[in-house]
Amino acid sequence: MNQKLNISAIIADLVAANRILAIEKVVDAFGHVSVRHPEYPDCYIIARAISPELVTPEDFMEVAFDGEVPGGDVRKAYLERFIHGAIYEARPDVQSIVHNHSKGLIPYSVTSEKLRPIVHSCATIGAHIPVWDAHTMFGDSNLLISTLEMGRDFARTLGQNNSALMRGHGCTVIGRSIREAVYTAIYLEVNAELQMQASRFSPITFLSDGEIRIISERLANAKPNEGYDRAWEYWCRHAGVEYRTRESVQSGQK
Ligand SMILES: [Zn+2]
Repeated sequence: MNQKLNISAIIADLVAANRILAIEKVVDAFGHVSVRHPEYPDCYIIARAISPELVTPEDFMEVAFDGEVPGGDVRKAYLERFIHGAIYEARPDVQSIVHNHSKGLIPYSVTSEKLRPIVHSCATIGAHIPVWDAHTMFGDSNLLISTLEMGRDFARTLGQNNSALMRGHGCTVIGRSIREAVYTAIYLEVNAELQMQASRFSPITFLSDGEIRIISERLANAKPNEGYDRAWEYWCRHAGVEYRTRESVQSGQK
């Protein structure tokens, strides 16, 4: 495989991910998406500090897990990049991460009401969605994860789950691919909206742990152009970006 071409293919998918998350209103001026670096084991790829909808291929940079930017790149990195490094460090299974401040989640981050999968398409958000509270370990702060210590504390709260909320701030979701992370980020917001509506008619019947597992496995094992790929194709069209098959990304075609 031509690694150089493969990185350009991955970056094209990251551009698409940024546009999709903006068009689907999961991110606004803030929020970011990253992918584990395919060549350097302690690095990931993420845009410079810029609003996701404005991202172009030239905006991407390599960032080390500890938050340092190698290679003399002086462009400003996202303040909250420590979220990404700490999770990649703790979770070898994670290939992509989305962090955002989408509105529907916030009520579940500041109350005792638990966000849980309510509809089949939202199963990948996971059976348990922990809430991290910056105040527990760090006292009064601006609530943003601005140090590696905060990032690692958040990664511990995330544990082996697919998503976690940050109290009064937002959420972070992981994926075994960019497409999975984007899918879960979009459907986490969908689930929050539906759960809020259903709460007027409680009690709510949530998905069982077994249903969550069966649906998640079906999506993870879907054939090319099905499952996450089908959703990705739809979102690419919606966001006005070119759809590229999973095979073309993996084989390094631009
Ligand atoms: Zn944030």
